[in-house]
Amino acid sequence: MGRKKFVVGNWKMNGSIEENQSLFDGLLSAKGVESVDIAVCVPSPYFFQARGALSGTAISWGAQNVSEQDSGAYTGEISAKMLVDLGAEIGLVGHSERRSMFGESSGLVGKKAMKLIEFGISPVVCVGETLDHRKSKKTLEVMSSQLKAVIEQIGLENLGNIVLAYEPVWAIGTGLTASPEQAQEVHSHLRQQVRLLDVEASRELRILYGGSVKPDNAEALFGQEDVDGGLIGGASLNLIDFLTICRAAVNATTH
Ligand code: PEP
Repeated sequence: MGRKKFVVGNWKMNGSIEENQSLFDGLLSAKGVESVDIAVCVPSPYFFQARGALSGTAISWGAQNVSEQDSGAYTGEISAKMLVDLGAEIGLVGHSERRSMFGESSGLVGKKAMKLIEFGISPVVCVGETLDHRKSKKTLEVMSSQLKAVIEQIGLENLGNIVLAYEPVWAIGTGLTASPEQAQEVHSHLRQQVRLLDVEASRELRILYGGSVKPDNAEALFGQEDVDGGLIGGASLNLIDFLTICRAAVNATTH
């Protein structure tokens, strides 16, 4: 049995009660996407709305960030315990916007991933190289080092508890996409790094691709051997586009 494809929407700082509800309703009434896992990561003010709409359904929901701390004087932060309290199932960590705009290091990303694991929430750990890294042929090296820093924090025993998302920084929100071959090269490298540590975990690890995935490029990306779905930003805000991408994951599974 192969890995089940997983499509995760990252709404970033977008949405309103009304817009969210129509996305939730549309996702819940979609047909023909049962063979893939689908989740949305919503802004924290809408956690309650997500819980009300999605708990107990086939669509999971989660957070876009979490604190590495348990509780206390951390104004504006959200703890993993709060996420569990609300019923969140996944949490993004290490999105490149958090790394670049909020100065999050790979070590911190690893601590956040570990905190989610402690509370039974599945971390979607984002890694990705900048355009400079790619131009100077450092992509694979940077991927290894971002992954290693996370594994140092979560430990080998938790390799089976994470989802990885390869998101080339130069492709996020830019309209530029890694070609299916570029994505496959990096995904296969990431899986190989995990295989060196734990063969079983490497077989089961889902590695999503993110970076300007759109209805017209999703199927080719998801058709690559080591691409197990996508992390979708802009296109996840449009119901038709997001569902078309989910269906591309279905098609890539059956072909
Ligand atoms: C993202 O935010 O993770 C992302 C991949 O964004 P976009 O799809 O808009 O490039």
